[in-house]
Amino acid sequence: MIRASTTAQASIVVLNTCTVTSGADQDARAAIRRVRRQNPNARIVVTGCYAQRAPQEVAALPGVDLVIGNSHKHQLAQIALAARREEWSVGPFVPLDALTLPYQSPIVDNERPTANGQRPVFVSDIFAHTELLAAPVFDAANERTRPNLKIQDGCDNRCSFCVIPYVRGQSRSLEMQRIIREVNTLVDAGYREVVISGINLGRWGRDLLQPPSQAGEAVSQRPTTNDQRLVSLIRAILAETTLEKLRISSVEPMDWSDDLISLVASSPRIAKHAHVPMQSGSDAELRRMHRKYRPWHYREKIEKIRAAMPDVAIGADVMVGFPGETDAEFEATLRMVEDLPFTYLHVFTYSPRPGTPAAEMKNQVPVHVARERNRILRELAAEKKLTFMRSFIGKTVEAITLNVVGRDAEGDFTEALTDNYLKLHLRGANQPNRWVKASITDVVSGTLAGDPSDALTVFEPRSLTPAAAAR
Ligand code: SF4
Repeated sequence: MIRASTTAQASIVVLNTCTVTSGADQDARAAIRRVRRQNPNARIVVTGCYAQRAPQEVAALPGVDLVIGNSHKHQLAQIALAARREEWSVGPFVPLDALTLPYQSPIVDNERPTANGQRPVFVSDIFAHTELLAAPVFDAANERTRPNLKIQDGCDNRCSFCVIPYVRGQSRSLEMQRIIREVNTLVDAGYREVVISGINLGRWGRDLLQPPSQAGEAVSQRPTTNDQRLVSLIRAILAETTLEKLRISSVEPMDWSDDLISLVASSPRIAKHAHVPMQSGSDAELRRMHRKYRPWHYREKIEKIRAAMPDVAIGADVMVGFPGETDAEFEATLRMVEDLPFTYLHVFTYSPRPGTPAAEMKNQVPVHVARERNRILRELAAEKKLTFMRSFIGKTVEAITLNVVGRDAEGDFTEALTDNYLKLHLRGANQPNRWVKASITDVVSGTLAGDPSDALTVFEPRSLTPAAAAR
């Protein structure tokens, strides 16, 4: 089986879908239509969270040949490569409404036959998964120089707006030694930055046992030790690998412990980047969202992070238009964004997700009101980001060069990403996958512009292996 270079050449196209908002579902449907237009003969396999949440709906979409939920994603290649469609047997199917409440064991109907003519569907109870079924380590590297290593999946929280726990299942972690091996494999292949990620990354290790559990012990009653916390894992990665830069993706506010903050602040091998979901600055709204912190907790964490790392990138997810969101509640969010030193924001407009408590709440906010709030926050975020970027003019930053080289009025430039998560256009055509120092001269169209500084290389040069470079 060879990886096709274009959709038109593929015999099988796998679409990995998201369902976090109704917009994500729409995007998935548009992608299916686009692929079908570009290649009427390809078999289209739809997987991911939309496939897990609404398999029947996805199977009924014109152009879809096969639906594989997250529950069967680890078997995707095996199922999709079955030579003929008749060989695609039908797996057990569980609709979302059978997976309603947390900690309840859903009913799995293994026997239900699929109606004639329906596309084969492979979806089962995601809550039955107690281990992280890891994809290969090179998963998700759409930027070839910064692979993403998923070390945790699922979530035990139940934020009232969120469908993720229902499509990803309970929180589960990749074991520490496995992670060390995966990072070493990436380092050996020539990668210089690895991003560790998870659905609820700050909970990494809480499901792992130290010492091994008693038979039949519930996950929530299992003992955990400090050896199974994110901070210990990061220390182990630093000690047991020669990775040049580790980037930590989103971590919930309450998991930014003092230990974690000081570890990130103290190590030049950890990118100065903190993504801390906020959602709302209103206490009442956070409570309705079933978020586990209060606005003052959040404020305190962000202030500690900034105090420990003056140049750190601080990002947040913020939601507008949650059911019942009043003008005063939105104002509280706006004030929090104004007050805190965010360097970027992801602003989401709430959309009801079937099966979640918030979808049933009264006082859904009119779309035009939510959109306007979204616009206000985005504009504020853009101003804050620009101010942050301008603060680096005349300074030297560290950045990793990416694969893209472009040309503007002043000649060639190389795209790069700074340690603190800013886009940079580095003058000249530079080698990809190098940590370099750059002197910042300007900010142009939301991107830093700079020259390679005299002390160009931060770490010793190393090349990607041919296999890694070809990915
Ligand atoms: S913490 Fe809340 S928003 Fe995040 S994945 Fe879990 S339930 Fe969803």
